[in-house]
Amino acid sequence: MRRLFLGSRGSVIRSHNLRAILLALLRYEPVSRVRLAQVTQLSNTTITNLIAELLEQGVVVEDAPSELNGRRGVGRPQTALRLSPDSRYTVGIHFDVDQVRAAVVNLRGQALRSGTHPHSFDQTPETVLTKTAALVEQVTTGLDDRRCVGLGVGVSGLADPSTGVNVFAPNLGWRGVPVAEWFARRFGFPVCLDNNVRVMALAETLFGAGRDAHTLAFVYARIGVGAGFAVNGQIYRGSGAGAGEIGHTTLLPDGGDTCRCGNTGCLETLVSEPAILRLANRIAADHPGGLLAQALEAGQGSPIERVFAAARAGDAPTRAMLVERARYMGIALANLVNILNPDLIVLGGLFDQGQDLLLPSVRQTIRERSFAHLGERVELRTATFGVLAGVVGAAALALDTFFYRQEQTEPQPG
Ligand SMILES: [Zn+2]
Repeated sequence: MRRLFLGSRGSVIRSHNLRAILLALLRYEPVSRVRLAQVTQLSNTTITNLIAELLEQGVVVEDAPSELNGRRGVGRPQTALRLSPDSRYTVGIHFDVDQVRAAVVNLRGQALRSGTHPHSFDQTPETVLTKTAALVEQVTTGLDDRRCVGLGVGVSGLADPSTGVNVFAPNLGWRGVPVAEWFARRFGFPVCLDNNVRVMALAETLFGAGRDAHTLAFVYARIGVGAGFAVNGQIYRGSGAGAGEIGHTTLLPDGGDTCRCGNTGCLETLVSEPAILRLANRIAADHPGGLLAQALEAGQGSPIERVFAAARAGDAPTRAMLVERARYMGIALANLVNILNPDLIVLGGLFDQGQDLLLPSVRQTIRERSFAHLGERVELRTATFGVLAGVVGAAALALDTFFYRQEQTEPQPG
C-alpha cells in the first residue's frame, strides 16, 4: 500500500505524534507552534521538527510574521501555521438507494468537484461499480495522482470496514460485495469502506457541527433510518460493526406495519420517507381538493417536498401528521439519549429538509421523555453538508484513515 508522506522514517511514536499534530492543525488552525505544543502536549523540539517536514512536503503553510509581531516579541516571532487544504485530496464515493455520487474532497472536507450517476435495483454490482469507476475518472480528470491519499466508500446496510465488504445492502439487493477490493484493484489506491450514516457522523465530528462535541449521534432518515456515533473524534462501531440501527428499534409493539427487516412496528415504518408518503396519500384521498391533494397532484419538487410545501402552506391534517411523526422520532431519540448520553445529535435527510415542521416536536419530545436533565442538555442540530453529506462522509473516512490517523507501525529500513 502506498504511503503518502511519512516516507521512510516511520516509527510508532513518530506516527502517533504526527497524528496529534495533523488533528490539532485541523482543529485549531491558524495556530502557532507554541499553541500546538500546548494542545498536543508534545515538546517544542518535536513540534519544530515535524512541522519542518510538513512544510517541506507542502501539507502545511506558514504565514509571514507580521512586522508588529516581530518587533514586539522576544526571540522567534509567533507565526501562524495552517493546513494547505488542496495539497492532498481524496475521492469520496457514496452509494445511495437510487444513485451513486463521487466527489473530490480536500483536507478540510470541502468538496471541490462532484458528480452523480443513477443506478437501479436490477443492475448487477459489477455494472454499478464499473459505472462508478467511470464517474471517479470523470471527477478526477487532470488531477495529480500523487496527491491522492486514497478512496473512501460509504455503503448502505451492513458494512465490514475490516474487509471492505458490503455485507448486506437490502435496498440494492447486494450481498457480500467486495467493494473496497474492487476499487483498490481498479485504481491502485488504498480504499476504505463503512456504512454511509456512520461516515456522515465522522464528517460532522471532523469538519462539521460536531467539532466541539465529545459524543455525537448522527441520525439520518430518508428511505431508511440509521444512526452513526462518534466518540472523542472516532467512529463507534460496536462489536460487529452494527451499532446505530436505530431505525429498527420497536416503537409499536402491536399492530405496526411490517418492516423490511422482517419485524413489525420499527421506527423506520413510522418516520421514513415511504411511511410519510403513505400517510400523505391517505390524507389526500380523504380530503380531495385540499392543499395536500393539490400539492401532490401539481406541486413542485419531489413528493416529500410537496408534502412539506402543503404543510408550510397551512394544511392542518398534514401538519398534524408530521408533528405526530416527529414525536415518534423524539421518543426514539429520548431512548438514545438515555443510553448514549450524547452532547450533540445531528439530524440529516428528512429532518433536515423539513426541520421547520419537524424539529420543534422532536425537541420537545426528547425533553419530555429523557431521564432527568439529560434531554435538556443534549443539543439538536441539522446536518452540515446537505446533499453532499454522503460523499463528504466517505471522504472523511479516507482522510481519517489514510491521512489524519494513518498507521505507520513498522519502522522502515534506511
Ligand atoms: Zn425494522
